[in-house]
Amino acid sequence: MANAVKGVIAGAKGAPVSVETILVPDPGPGEALVRIQACGVCHTDLHYREGAITNDFPFLLGHEASGIVEQVGPNVTNVAPGDFVILAWRAPCGTCRSCLRGRPWYCFASRNAQQKMTRQDGTPLSAAIGIGAFAELALVAAGQAVKVNPAARPEAAGLVGCGIMAGLGAAINTGGVSRGDSVAVIGCGGVGNAAIAGAKLAGAHTIIGVDVDERKLEWAKQFGATHTINSRHTDPVQAIRDLTGGNGVNVAIEAVGKPETYTQAFYVRDHAGTVVLVGVPSPEMKIELPLLEVFGRGGALKSSWYGDCLPTRDFPMFIDLYLQGRLDLERFVSETITLDKVEEAFHKMERGEVLRSVVVF
Ligand SMILES: [Zn+2]
Ligand SMILES: [Zn+2]
Repeated sequence: MANAVKGVIAGAKGAPVSVETILVPDPGPGEALVRIQACGVCHTDLHYREGAITNDFPFLLGHEASGIVEQVGPNVTNVAPGDFVILAWRAPCGTCRSCLRGRPWYCFASRNAQQKMTRQDGTPLSAAIGIGAFAELALVAAGQAVKVNPAARPEAAGLVGCGIMAGLGAAINTGGVSRGDSVAVIGCGGVGNAAIAGAKLAGAHTIIGVDVDERKLEWAKQFGATHTINSRHTDPVQAIRDLTGGNGVNVAIEAVGKPETYTQAFYVRDHAGTVVLVGVPSPEMKIELPLLEVFGRGGALKSSWYGDCLPTRDFPMFIDLYLQGRLDLERFVSETITLDKVEEAFHKMERGEVLRSVVVF
């Protein structure tokens, strides 16, 4: 049987999204049906709508979600009806070459639901990052549903499913930030500020937020930046060296995804330091760096995909830290909206007015 619910569809490249009735199948083997309680509006949803990711329209958008398991299919043991879960777009398969090497956070065959959600006429929908949670019900692979403490507010918890995890993980998992480190974060939107929060959690003593927007720099301070630099007026490379005794930082996190800001991250790091790219570039972008500097500075140039997270390990931990008052997830929720306001939320995001608009059901 299929369940008819409202969902947010991107029907054609660049066209505004619309709320339509969609059909969500009952769960088959290895699948879970989740009643969505909250789902954040992420840049990736906008990228799908713009046709910047794939051309498989129509898309069912939404992927930063939390909810209650409604029903599970045969052979599901990790969750049961009534469980409070965060949806993950990485559900390690356990059998690919990366999982078999003991590195499931790099899984090459992450699981998704086998059945498709469809339009009422049967047209299959492509679910954003294998989730599709701007809908009252979402069908996922059971491994994508990660149980966390149900005391968490759904609006805050759902954000851990994508952007906030990406930022926290860029600092903690990929960058390996630890006590006493100095860190610079270039780009202080949702992901960048989550990287700042992650650096603070890990014990960094100097955390420098860089952005061109004063409002975002104000947010950065609230999340734990000890210093901020407006790179519209000030050269961040020189300013960061000045703040670190002329040396640069141990970890430079690029949360913009542009050649100029990547180059800044490269030059603001100390010798043997680490650059982490978590901002998402577009296909035409290129960088040019003196190879001797790449060699001579040592250290590491890394990329962080989904914060190199292992959802079953990291989601429950971050929710516990949030419930203990050590991680301010609530501050990322700029506003709560209804399902029909997603298009408007995209425009607020483009204007930099919000960290996250969150759809509540
Ligand atoms: Zn795998
Ligand atoms: Zn996202």
